[in-house]
Amino acid sequence: MTYEELLKDARTRLEQAGVESAATDAMLILSRVAKLGSANIYAVLPEQVPGDVVNKFRKALDLRAARKPLQLILGDTVFMGLRFVVDGNELIPRPDTEILVQEAMEIWHRRDEAGEALSVLDICTGSGCIAVSLARYGRFSRVSAGDISEKALVNARMNAKINKVNIDFECGDLFAPFAGEKFDIITANPPYIRSGDIDGLQTEVRDYDPREALDGGEDGLDFYRRIAGEVRDHLREGGSLLLEIGSEQAEDVSALMSGAGFDKVRVIKDYAGLDRVIVCE
Ligand code: GLN
Repeated sequence: MTYEELLKDARTRLEQAGVESAATDAMLILSRVAKLGSANIYAVLPEQVPGDVVNKFRKALDLRAARKPLQLILGDTVFMGLRFVVDGNELIPRPDTEILVQEAMEIWHRRDEAGEALSVLDICTGSGCIAVSLARYGRFSRVSAGDISEKALVNARMNAKINKVNIDFECGDLFAPFAGEKFDIITANPPYIRSGDIDGLQTEVRDYDPREALDGGEDGLDFYRRIAGEVRDHLREGGSLLLEIGSEQAEDVSALMSGAGFDKVRVIKDYAGLDRVIVCE
């Protein structure tokens, strides 16, 4: 069987299983299993696939047909152009979260040019994608990150190592590990799905992202309420708080943060034009 034939079959199989990006996923899995770069697979399309590659590919394809996320099959993903390992103990990094990182980078740039050395704290860090990207692309005096899940932190630490950055990771609930400490920038992508909406999510999200990374309580706002109550103790004068939000939460979260004493609250849209990030200053 040739690579081309194998890919065609795989694409049909994934389409029938309801996978959205069937062709791309089939190609990415095959190039990983065959140890070829995704571009190189096109160079070998008419060639015969070695038997062991066919077997390994079929096994991986079974998982994708059962709607296991591509990133968990490959064991990694790309966020902000950087590689992050994932194993199901953390929320898989989403492209929309890059908007939050870009916004934090702009704040960093502005203040760095003014000669300030800034510290940053990322809570609910999960894979560490926000903290690692900031540490990689900015020059901060200190980058700290926390998560309630020790299992998530194992990979977050690995991701810091892979991307050659220094981050102080602490395990604990929201700000608990950072008692008495203040930062210039605080970021968070907390769980924000309404408990009652979780069953209706895509299989890949519902069955494979940890529930504790998704569930924001009855109205989805539990973590924003807690952050609003505690953030003032951890943000330096003139600091910025950046939060990822659900697309219908801008109004509620803005109100919570105004109530917490932030004068300026901005809403930023994601790649799909939906409200996705709140910046509070
Ligand atoms: N953006 C994720 C989703 O829609 C949820 C992330 C979160 O709760 N922080 O699946």
